[in-house]
Formats: sequence, C-alpha cells, structure tokens
Amino acid sequence: MARGVQPDKHTAYYELLDACATSGCPVCALTLAAVTSYLQAITYEHVNDPEFRDAIVAARGYCNTHSWRLRELRVALGTALMYRDVIRDAATELARPSAAGRPDLFGAGQGHGGMRDRLAALAGRTAPDRGDGRIVDPHRACPACRERERYELLYLEALLDHIQDERMSQAFGGAGGLCMVHLDRLIATTRQSAALARLIALQRECLQRLHDELTEFIRKNDYRFSGEGMGVERDSWVRAVEIVAGKPGIR
Ligand SMILES: [Zn+2]
Ligand SMILES: [Zn+2]
Repeated sequence: MARGVQPDKHTAYYELLDACATSGCPVCALTLAAVTSYLQAITYEHVNDPEFRDAIVAARGYCNTHSWRLRELRVALGTALMYRDVIRDAATELARPSAAGRPDLFGAGQGHGGMRDRLAALAGRTAPDRGDGRIVDPHRACPACRERERYELLYLEALLDHIQDERMSQAFGGAGGLCMVHLDRLIATTRQSAALARLIALQRECLQRLHDELTEFIRKNDYRFSGEGMGVERDSWVRAVEIVAGKPGIR
C-alpha cells in the first residue's frame, strides 16, 4: 500500500518528542497524522494506480472511521473514483450466483482470490462471529486500519527504545502518558521488559496525577468551593476521556 515516508528510529525519536509537547497520547497523535498522510496520498496520487484501487475494491472500501475521514479531508474526486469502483464491484457480487443461495458481500471475494481475508489476516483481525447477533463493522480488511496498525507498532517500539533517555521520559510524563488503547497494545507486543517496566512506572505517575486533578475538579464543582476558580484541573475530565479511549478516530 501507499505509505508515507517511513520514519527511521532517529526520526521517530524527534517526532515522539514533538508529539509529547502537544499533550495527550503521542502515539495517537503520530498515528493519526500518518493515516491522514496515507489517505491523502491514496486519493491524490494513487487513485488511478490499479494496485491500490484493487486492494480498496477488494476490501469493500475503508471501515466506518476511515471512510468518513475521507469526507473530513474533503478528497471529493479521489473518493468518488475509488468508491464508484467499490460500488460497481459490490453490485456485481450481488448478481453472482452462489452456492449458499445468498450473496456474501464481505466474504473471501472470489473475484479477488480471497484478498479480503488475506488483508484482514494481515491486520490481525479475526473473522467476526456471525452467530452472536452483534452488529460489527464488516470492513475487517480496511487498508487504512492496516496502515494504522503498522505505525502504532513502529512508534510504540521507538518510544520504548528511548524511554530510558531522560529527555524522552520527561517529555512522556509531560504529555500525560499513553492512552489505554496503546498501553495495552504495547504490553501485548513488546519483548523489552526492562524498558516496559520503566514506561509503566512513568505511566502510573501520570495516572496518579490525573486522578488527583480529577479529584480537585470534582471538589471545585461543589458550590462551597466554586469560588476558588479552576486551575490546571479545568480540562482534566477531557484528558481522562482521552487516556481511557485514545484520541478521536484512533479506533
Ligand atoms: Zn494512544
Ligand atoms: Zn479503517
């Protein structure tokens, strides 16, 4: 797939420091920026490139989050060209006779040699359980989700590589730590146990500080103390949402 310039570990170090300075989960910030660059590159530069279009058609377009990102980015013509192909292919699929008697819009995709399943497997997404009645986004093979996954792992690994560095650990603490989505991802994927222990210690300090700010925020919402005026705890509830869920659009 089209990708932005792959940052090397040296570049990633400075990108992480910059992202920490803007507050909030640095991996969310860098990953969202990388996915935005990817979507812009696809819709401006690669929209007529058969390799990219075939993958997007096979995936039945992007997932809900990344499809609507196209609108936010206002990449109208690129979206029209890509999604016209997606819609044409879906219409063909609906007309195809199938053994089961029902079309399978998000199945393996006979016309693409099972590309949807392969893309979904690459993104580490298991097939949804179709028997439990849950409604889930069937776009398991979303190419933008794959890009997101790739960048998340890249930046998480770079963060751990440098977390013993004094400048990085201070910047990380100043940002308020990782969101729970990325902390969980890091714990599940890394083998750097000493660096992980250091990061978790810093993360615990961040959580304690935010906890205390929330307590202060709640106290000042009591009419008896409302005259004191808010300090840094003013937006602690928004930072709490971010640390729990990640930045908007990260999942
Ligand atoms: Zn995050
Ligand atoms: Zn997606």
